[in-house]
Amino acid sequence: MSTALASGPQGPDNLSPLLATVLAALRTGAATRPGPLPAGGPADVAARLREALGDPFPEHGDDHALHTLVHAFAAGAADPAHPHCTAHLHCPPLAIATAADLAASALNPSLDSWDQAPAASALETLVARALAAEVYPPTGRTATPDALVTTGGTESNQLALLLARERHPHVRLVQAENAHHSLHRATWLLGLPEPVTVPAPAGTMDPAALDQALTALGGPPGTVLVAATAGTTDAGLIDPLPDIAGICETHGARLHIDAAYGGGLLLSDRHRPQLDGLARAHTVTLDLHKLGWQPVAAGLLAVRDPDDLHALTHHADYLNADDDTEAGLPDLLGRSLRTTRRADILKIAVTLKTLGRQRLGALVDQVCAHATALAELIDVHPHFELYDRPTISTVLFRPTHATDTTVADVRRTLLAQGRAVLGRARLDNRLWFKATLLNPHTQPDDLTALLELVEGHTAR
Ligand SMILES: *Cc1c(COP(=O)(O)O)cnc(C)c1O
Repeated sequence: MSTALASGPQGPDNLSPLLATVLAALRTGAATRPGPLPAGGPADVAARLREALGDPFPEHGDDHALHTLVHAFAAGAADPAHPHCTAHLHCPPLAIATAADLAASALNPSLDSWDQAPAASALETLVARALAAEVYPPTGRTATPDALVTTGGTESNQLALLLARERHPHVRLVQAENAHHSLHRATWLLGLPEPVTVPAPAGTMDPAALDQALTALGGPPGTVLVAATAGTTDAGLIDPLPDIAGICETHGARLHIDAAYGGGLLLSDRHRPQLDGLARAHTVTLDLHKLGWQPVAAGLLAVRDPDDLHALTHHADYLNADDDTEAGLPDLLGRSLRTTRRADILKIAVTLKTLGRQRLGALVDQVCAHATALAELIDVHPHFELYDRPTISTVLFRPTHATDTTVADVRRTLLAQGRAVLGRARLDNRLWFKATLLNPHTQPDDLTALLELVEGHTAR
């Protein structure tokens, strides 16, 4: 019955046949795709979807809509689990995380008050602190670092700027040319002055230029927020974090590190040393829907000094009345700028506990190893040029002697055919294909086949 509920004693029984429908439609939908994308490009995809949808809001309902629309949704999806889906920091979610997320949807806790989310709020407190301790390993410090759960790197970066502004109302952002666009946008949102942008000549922040910029700006401690990047979106490069942290400490500048991509390296014993210096930042952006294999959304902002979070304290009598808080009901409203808030922590908690450090770290090692393998294939290939050895799991390459127009055309042709999803990045004033490898189960043959696809289209 279409009006049955997902929670309550009958919830699981109500869901069970519907899940069978969803799983069947995921199968049949995916089977129609020639590769990671549907064939035909935007107009064809939109036409097929329009036909599947028909009247979006009919007078009388259609009990087949779940099957019809999930089938069309899967048929027209970009499947991040396909080994040739490599354009973006768009990860294939783990089945275990997706299954856990279903429970969050069914129970529908909302993390704006304890009486809507008793277990969810307790779980979030524990797991957020545990993740904050990965960024800020325990030392002699008295205050316990904490982390806010966000919708992703964009919201985390906004919150980092907001917390800095609440420490100093006229804070000036200093970033490098390689910074994520969301930081600039956050200054606009918060009504802050235009950021000062220092050069990133080799794709990473130039520490000498940062030192000069901070000297020129002067001002008392805390009036400048430096934002460094650990894992640039274009090339996966990591700024020289220890140097930057030292310069910030000398100048009394606050430091934020946007580790939306690179933060995933914390999960790997082998790759974690690349993040040395991370713990010297006041705030750190993490994004487990990138190198963490979570369904969207799974962002975090780790905060070294939990006193910074007092800035978010907010009262709404129906959610956190003083006498309720005094009587011991946890006050959740100060953990986000959102009010109703999904329990994104459940899938994260289930993933961390199911896989443990060893298995999660191995996934990180695998995608980094795939990137190294792809780079080696390109490096010895007579018709391709490699931009550089990968730092994380991003590989930039281009056909030797090709023009930028060819690179852009080949990328769009492969998209329209549905055969491969490659990204693009402009570096050294040339256009490169970008392959961001996030599928731990990719095989060596998949990488060879990806290069063959590109080569085949370039030659024509
Ligand atoms: C992806 C990314 C972001 C934005 O994160 P969303 O989850 O897309 O909001 C910010 N910074 C960097 C470096 C990123 O790679």
